[in-house]
Amino acid sequence: MREYKIFFATHNLDKKREIEYILTSKNINVLYIDDFPGYPKVEETSDTLEGNSLIKSENGFFFTGIDTFAEDTGLFVDSLNQEPGVLTARFAGKDATYRDNYLLLLKRMENFRDEERKAYFKTVISFKTKKYVKYFEGVCSGKISTKPIGENGFGYDPVFIPDGFDKTFAQLDKETKNKISHRSKALEKFTDFLMKEYLIGA
Ligand code: IMP
Repeated sequence: MREYKIFFATHNLDKKREIEYILTSKNINVLYIDDFPGYPKVEETSDTLEGNSLIKSENGFFFTGIDTFAEDTGLFVDSLNQEPGVLTARFAGKDATYRDNYLLLLKRMENFRDEERKAYFKTVISFKTKKYVKYFEGVCSGKISTKPIGENGFGYDPVFIPDGFDKTFAQLDKETKNKISHRSKALEKFTDFLMKEYLIGA
């Protein structure tokens, strides 16, 4: 087996926890920002998920010198013209908490009927190496609930009901969320690529 290390550029502990959990079984050696004291934060100034994902992976690659992946995720509500979209993390303002954000979303959708509550999460992983940048996407479709329910997960999980379920992400256990989520789908494509490209696990 070849020793191959990659770096995951995120300051978000919830994303780190999910990704770490999914990758544990894959034999992939991942480093995180706690391994790099003084790791710099970078502004997400793009108006696309791809752009913001790339800003983070390039920052990671230049700081660590290690092949780096980063991800950017948005929640898109059809009848809100795809809002919050790229502003998902900052929907209720720059320092908004997860709760501030999903409460604002519920308020904006207060009088929406069931068929107007369709939404999807999309994750874009970018992988930056010396030779190239590659992108991997994952989408999870569902709808926005009328009130927050559940304790698990993070972000908008208490108000997102994935298709095929009558529970929010926050009511599902992590194994179930990680089978169907936007992040796990993008990560699956990315790890398939790594296995082929670098013969990890071979
Ligand atoms: P960013 O990708 O760091 O720009 O942040 C995206 C925002 O989307 C996070 O701050 C969360 O509020 C939300 N988010 C990302 N992934 C998930 C998820 O799996 N469930 C619920 N909310 C999420």
